[in-house]
Amino acid sequence: MITIDKNRCPQNHRCPSIKVCPVGAISQEGFGLPVVNQEICVECGKCIKFCPMRAIQKS
Ligand code: SF4
Repeated sequence: MITIDKNRCPQNHRCPSIKVCPVGAISQEGFGLPVVNQEICVECGKCIKFCPMRAIQKS
């Protein structure tokens, strides 16, 4: 399961990982904490590598 750590994500910008997700599983309201739709996510890990804050993790 892919999760986003609210303590690592500064929540002050558009999440750059949204555009690398091949299935569009990441959504974000404003600059809020992004949310991963677990029903769509294929756990490819692209967003994990792309996040500069290393806020996205696989558990
Ligand atoms: S692991 Fe892959 S499919 Fe899942 S949210 Fe990240 S980029 Fe999208």
